[in-house]
Amino acid sequence: MQNRREFLKTAAFAALGAGWAANQIWAGSVETIPRFHINSRAGVVPRMRLRFFPYELKLRHVFTVASYSRSTTPDVQVEIEYDGVIGYGEASMPPYLQEELGTMESVMGFLRDLQGKIGRFADPFQLEDILAYVDGLSEGNAAAKAAVDIALHDLVGKLLQTPWYKLWGLDREKTPSTTYTIGMDTPDVVRKKTEECAGRFNILKVKLGLDNDKAMIETIRSVTNLPIAVDANQGWTDRQYALDMIYWLKEQGIVMVEQPMPKNRLDDTAWITQQSPLPIFADESVQRLKDIVGLKGAFTGINIKLMKCTGMREAWKMLNLARALDMGVMVGCMTETSCAVSAAAQLSPAVDFADLDGALLIANDRFRGMEVIKGKITLPDLPGIGVIRVED
Ligand SMILES: [Mg+2]
Repeated sequence: MQNRREFLKTAAFAALGAGWAANQIWAGSVETIPRFHINSRAGVVPRMRLRFFPYELKLRHVFTVASYSRSTTPDVQVEIEYDGVIGYGEASMPPYLQEELGTMESVMGFLRDLQGKIGRFADPFQLEDILAYVDGLSEGNAAAKAAVDIALHDLVGKLLQTPWYKLWGLDREKTPSTTYTIGMDTPDVVRKKTEECAGRFNILKVKLGLDNDKAMIETIRSVTNLPIAVDANQGWTDRQYALDMIYWLKEQGIVMVEQPMPKNRLDDTAWITQQSPLPIFADESVQRLKDIVGLKGAFTGINIKLMKCTGMREAWKMLNLARALDMGVMVGCMTETSCAVSAAAQLSPAVDFADLDGALLIANDRFRGMEVIKGKITLPDLPGIGVIRVED
């Protein structure tokens, strides 16, 4: 492990160019970060403090899923401060997922309630106890729970001066390439978007499940031979049609298929998976750890998203359970700032596929963190979830 002086030098170097925000983090932290023990300041027992505020994510392009379009995403930014160090977290609530994730109102209410209660825990290292308590406060509200979880992980990593991929024993060199989604549009627009992406990414993602599926793939294939991941978003309702499509997709150089059928049609999905020449991943069919055992046999693998599964703690458990069941793992995201995306990226050296393009889709990112370099997920050598605040 680096000694403290080397670490601060590296961190400061990595922070260059991030302006006052980086200075603010490190200026406040340099003399106060304790090493492996707390209560360092004479006579002062530090307490955790929770802060949060709504933050509307502005999308670079109008986002279309099937019949639905939007240009913003409701989001709440969270900070947990302890002994002069701040951990950052985030709740993103795309409108079509608010039943699962929570609404702006429910997330704000959940955090307001927790604000008065988090002080009962002595320090952020009691992650298991704190997060079990947070999870027990209410049903649902997965995004609010994820925001607290991510902020706590960031805080603990900063106090230990170590990134989470290292705490989990993962190799930063093994991060995969991220998929990049080509949205549904007219053939001309799809061709143009694909041309723009082909040089920057190593694998594309295409949402299917409508009646122009083959035309969409053929349009992309007229421009590039890059591998493609397909997300049917529960859009195929006939299992024989789905299997025929998957065989056709295999011939077109598609490498995996996400959620071919409606989330509760597990018997039909198992029938497809048993005969499929491509791996079949669950997205809508899986939310949390408890769902995974029931999906063994129906899917080849699972898509883990922090907003759905309540954060990094449960995501790590899900990854390990899936591996123990000999299942594949992908990590995905919502439209999010680099905060939540970088938290998810800490897991990425251990996954088969990563779909972490969420921060690339927004125009008002408050953080710098995980970067996509030549299509590959690249983790910064920064502690916690590996982000630095930039000016709004
Ligand atoms: Mg999906």
